[in-house]
Parts: sequence; C-alpha cells; structure tokens
Amino acid sequence: MSDKRIIIALDGPAGAGKSTVARRVAERLGFVYINTGAMYRSVALWALRLKTELSDMHRLEQLAIEARIEFGANGHVLLNGEDVSEAIRAEAVSLAASKVSALPAVRRALLGTQRRIAETASVVMEGRDIGSVVFPDAQVKIYLDADPQERARRRAAELVRRGQTVDPAVVAADIRKRDESDRTRTASPLMQAPDAEFIDTTGMSLEEVEEAILRLIRFRTANGKELAR
Ligand code: C5P
Repeated sequence: MSDKRIIIALDGPAGAGKSTVARRVAERLGFVYINTGAMYRSVALWALRLKTELSDMHRLEQLAIEARIEFGANGHVLLNGEDVSEAIRAEAVSLAASKVSALPAVRRALLGTQRRIAETASVVMEGRDIGSVVFPDAQVKIYLDADPQERARRRAAELVRRGQTVDPAVVAADIRKRDESDRTRTASPLMQAPDAEFIDTTGMSLEEVEEAILRLIRFRTANGKELAR
C-alpha cells in the first residue's frame, strides 16, 4: 500500500454545503477533516473578545500566530484549549471572520498551519482558497456552489438548529455581504481553481452530494482502489 498522502480541496461560498459533506467524506475515507473557516472564525472570535479593532493588522496577525487552534472529535474546535465550536458560529463572528480573513498577514499565519497539518495525514480540507492557494497541487479539487436563496435558507436552518433566533432576510443579507467581500478581496479571493470540478448542489440532498464527491475522488485518484471502502 502506498504511503502517498492525498489532499482533497473543497472550496465554495457560505451555505454551499461544504462542511457537513466534507466531514462525511473524510469519515468514509479515514482522512483528517479540516475546516479552515473555523480557523478564521476562531481568530475573529478571539479578536472580538479582546475588543481588538478589526482594522488593527499587526494585532490581528499576532493573534493569528499565537492562536492554538485544534480540531477534536466530531468536528469540535478548540481555541487555546477552550471548546469554541458553538461560539464561532454566531453571525457576528461570521462577519468578523470575513473581515480578518482579508488581511494578508492573517492568511499567511494560518496558511502555515494548514500546510503543516497535511504533512502528516491525508486530508479533506474545506475553505475558500484551498485549491487555488493553500494546495494548488491537491490531487482532487472540488468547487461547490448553490443558488444564493438556497444557500441563505440552509444557513438560516443551521442557525435555528443551533438554537439561535434568526431573521431570514438578515441571514440572506449577511451571506451576500460575506460573498461580496470574500470574492473581491485582493488576498486569496474566493474562486474556482481552473482544474477544480464544479458541483451545483442546488436541490441535491446531502447523500447525493456526498456520492458525487466520492465518485470524483475515485475517478481522480490514481490509486482509487485503495480509497474505495
Ligand atoms: O467557511 P466559513 O463560512 O465558516 O468561513 C468563514 C469566513 O472565513 C469566510 O466568510 C471567509 O471570509 C473566511 N475564510 C477564508 N478562507 C478560507 C476559509 C474561510 O477567507 N479558506
């Protein structure tokens, strides 16, 4: 059996259905699942708690360098030892994450961590720039998208599941704001890598998206037989 590590890059805008599917695909393959959005969210949460100005590049860079971000079981996220899985999902943190992620120094700090993780394990890594910047040589690159209304509906449903009270119009506006900022920033904007497979998940069930991705992985991976479980 080959010891070659495999990197699956999964990118796309908020609400495209990346997180749940990426976690399930990683489980099926026995790969490590890394949610890079959770890393930007953790830095943003820390900055908000410390009342750091979101324009203070140097302080934010320092926080990004110093943040000890770990991924525990069941997709739990630890920031400096504290379980912040729920706290990082608040809408205020989403918007703050989008702001801090536009800073090149913050991206540089987290990029190093993201690359180091994949030095020791095969990974399914999801984010905005995984196929374009973090791992331009990833064996499999997938770009997930969905109709903006459906993405807003999914995001609102996720917040309700987490016990938050939501105004669907506000959620839709927040997603539009984040999309705009993520797509137009200069540093590693959200984009489909030229060699990424595009999947429109509008109207698809979770299982359908998962199967489509697993098919692609088997097709794209030379040693696909090893991956087929
Ligand atoms: O994926 P999620 O919506 O949790 O990401 C939160 C924010 O973090 C995004 O809106 C984006 O601004 C930023 N992000 C990024 N690059 C990544 C992952 C997330 O800029 N690779």
